[in-house]
Amino acid sequence: MAEHYSMIINGEAVDTGETFAVQNPATGEKIATVAQASLADVDRAVEAARAAFHGVWKKTAPAKRTRLLMKVAEIMREKMRELVALEVLNTGKAVSGVIGEVHQAIEDFEFYAGATTKIYGQTYPAAPFVLNYTLKEPVGVCAQIIPWNYPLMMAAWKIAPALAAGCTVVLKPASLTPLTAVKLVEICHEAGIPPGVVNLVTGPGASVGAYLAEHPGVDKVAFTGETETGKSILAGAAKTIKKATMELGGKSPNIVFPDADLEDAVNGSIWAVFTSTGQTCEARSRLFVHEDVYDEFVAKFVERTKSLRIGDPADKTMHVGSLISRKQWETVDSYVKIGLGEGAELLCGGARPEGLEEEFADGHFYLPTVLANVHNKMRVAQEEIFGPVVVIIKYSTEREVVELANDTIYGLAATLWTKDTARAHRVAGQLQTGIVTVNHPYTAFPGTPFGGSKQTGFGRELAFETLNLYTETKSVLVYTSDKPVNPFGL
Ligand code: NDP
Repeated sequence: MAEHYSMIINGEAVDTGETFAVQNPATGEKIATVAQASLADVDRAVEAARAAFHGVWKKTAPAKRTRLLMKVAEIMREKMRELVALEVLNTGKAVSGVIGEVHQAIEDFEFYAGATTKIYGQTYPAAPFVLNYTLKEPVGVCAQIIPWNYPLMMAAWKIAPALAAGCTVVLKPASLTPLTAVKLVEICHEAGIPPGVVNLVTGPGASVGAYLAEHPGVDKVAFTGETETGKSILAGAAKTIKKATMELGGKSPNIVFPDADLEDAVNGSIWAVFTSTGQTCEARSRLFVHEDVYDEFVAKFVERTKSLRIGDPADKTMHVGSLISRKQWETVDSYVKIGLGEGAELLCGGARPEGLEEEFADGHFYLPTVLANVHNKMRVAQEEIFGPVVVIIKYSTEREVVELANDTIYGLAATLWTKDTARAHRVAGQLQTGIVTVNHPYTAFPGTPFGGSKQTGFGRELAFETLNLYTETKSVLVYTSDKPVNPFGL
């Protein structure tokens, strides 16, 4: 029978009677029912977060916050297998990748547990008679709205720095994948984080999410999701001048220079686009290959892409699992057709895999797909597909490829493959992205700033500097002279 998941407001499980169903995308099976928040529930969650902020959390000593965040990480580690299994069940993604995500979610809490006691202000002798010091004070109540592609990891990226800084939280997970976020908030309470510090509301983004994002009781909105949703959230947040962090879409370039180690470049580039079934914001989905190595690289790339194992997400030998939904499957398939209509050549994929077990007959599997003969102005090269589709573009010179790589509305990640270190640094400096990786595809480590420029958004997550986005700087100016103060000479 499908399990039921409640909202969590002020430390209590809350149900309103209204529910929505959550499915396993790999089978289409209903796996859970989830409480659906009303707008009054959002009000209650924000009130609980405000009361907990002023009543307890901002007054909790940093060292105690450290212990509590470490305890969250410890319990997550104990429940690692359960969290991985639930994430695989709810996302349909291959367990081989999900294990890394859950590890990283735990390490986020560990990183911010350490960071809590290192939030320092500064001192500045502003004038001979004025000493200025700064206090880093928590921003307040944070609305945190997350997408369906990395449900637990995104929840950790949001909750851990907010709590470290002394803020309180109302989290809204994606409606397709709320389950591990509910578990994480339960774990926060099990660890001893006081009621009201972390609240969770579930329900449709258009109503519950939008209402939360513009709620007058919220001081900051941290959002990860589509660029168009980000624009509408920013418009709502602007009504009360909330602080905001926006982690939005991407169309990241992956550049193979002629001097690259082609074996590494092929293997790393395949992972860079097909991990997480291609449903990652930093998917290096535009692959630029130099004309001198184009034929050799593309032949190997296609041969190895065809060898990827796709199927049962819980099977550790699988590389690729299911897409999240029928709708996402159709979006991906329609983009492949758009690409072919624009003149692209299909080198592999472009269809549902054959021979899947009976159990996965209703799953949303899509073969890793390679489109060649693409130029950078085509829609498939400009629009985020968010699925296992890579476009390959041939180029001739370094200057040309830098221009092409930057010719996009997005600016999240870029990957370079070259043995020429001077070139690597030179090109890294010219790319308009928040992240550049050289000779490997990995973009996200706790402590490393993660985020983008242009319409990918603003603000960096996962890093020490993220704490600046959850704190306000207050300047205190103290008169230190022994002479009387009389500015008007009265
Ligand atoms: P969406 O923008 O559709 O949804 C994200 C979240 O916002 C969900 O919780 C959703 O709720 C909610 N939401 C939807 N509409 C509104 C609204 N009007 N007001 C407030 N909240 C709303 O994104 P997806 O879930 O489809 O995620 C995929 C996107 O996320 C991709 O574009 C991807 O690039 C981006 N992403 C970016 C990352 C980055 O770091 N830059 C990392 C990961 C993903 P509901 O689920 O109920 O619709």
